[in-house]
Amino acid sequence: LLSVKDLRIAFGDVQAVHGLSFDIHRGETLALVGESGSGKSATALSILRLIEREGGRINGGSIRFGPSPDPVEITTLPAAALRALRGDRIAMVFQEPMTSLNPVMRIGRQMTETLRLHRGLTGAEARSAARAALDRVMIPDPGRRLDQYPHELSGGLRQRVMIAMALACEPEVLIADEPTTALDVTTQAEILTLLRDLQRDMGMAVLFITHDLGVVAEIADRVVVMQNGRKVEEARTDALFAAPRHPYTRELIAASP
Ligand code: ATP
Ligand code: MG
Repeated sequence: LLSVKDLRIAFGDVQAVHGLSFDIHRGETLALVGESGSGKSATALSILRLIEREGGRINGGSIRFGPSPDPVEITTLPAAALRALRGDRIAMVFQEPMTSLNPVMRIGRQMTETLRLHRGLTGAEARSAARAALDRVMIPDPGRRLDQYPHELSGGLRQRVMIAMALACEPEVLIADEPTTALDVTTQAEILTLLRDLQRDMGMAVLFITHDLGVVAEIADRVVVMQNGRKVEEARTDALFAAPRHPYTRELIAASP
């Protein structure tokens, strides 16, 4: 469904990702793990070509998306086609929802705007779709939440809102960049269970970025391990834990609780 090949990403003169390749198949969860600075977020942002906004650029390789006879090449996709892809077919949730939620706009308004943009829904239709999306992520009392501002919600609820917004457009791929890192352990576990259940129900592919191997064991079908902008290992999750091949992977597993 999504095929990354020899991807290179630079920030100025600094090469952050050196020729990374992996595939994500329909309906699977692929975890991208590695320590801070290994290039996970840069990779995630490149898939939606948001990396330019962060001051980086793709300087090699390809990112192909779509069914195999004629996938689109994201690295050279014109801006209009790219906007159509974002949110609609590939959606993303980040670590800290406050950076992607508008602090001065009510939740309901943000959600209906998103639905207008991506699904062409307006008025009562958008309002009821927004409610349904909040229901799906099991936010209690969704009617009231729609009238609240982001700061009135707890971090866990904000993250659920972000997931609801990402999923409202029924994307084929969801990219989640450390979506639970900022949350307490209980809320983390709830969000992970929610993501896993939604993934199963909706059959979407998920690229899950984390440095937490416990999370990987919990939700991933396959794992790509990154170190310093390179892939050092790729395996099915059970195989990775049973028989890690690369010393760095062994180190990660030994260091995780
Ligand atoms: P973390 O686990 O901390 O989120 P990461 O694996 O997501 O780390 P990236 O954020 O992708 O790592 O960063 C990869 C490399 O690119 C790092 O060396 C980082 O210093 C560099 N980098 C990231 N963002 C920028 C930026 N905006 N400007 C300059 N360099 C950057
Ligand atoms: Mg990151």
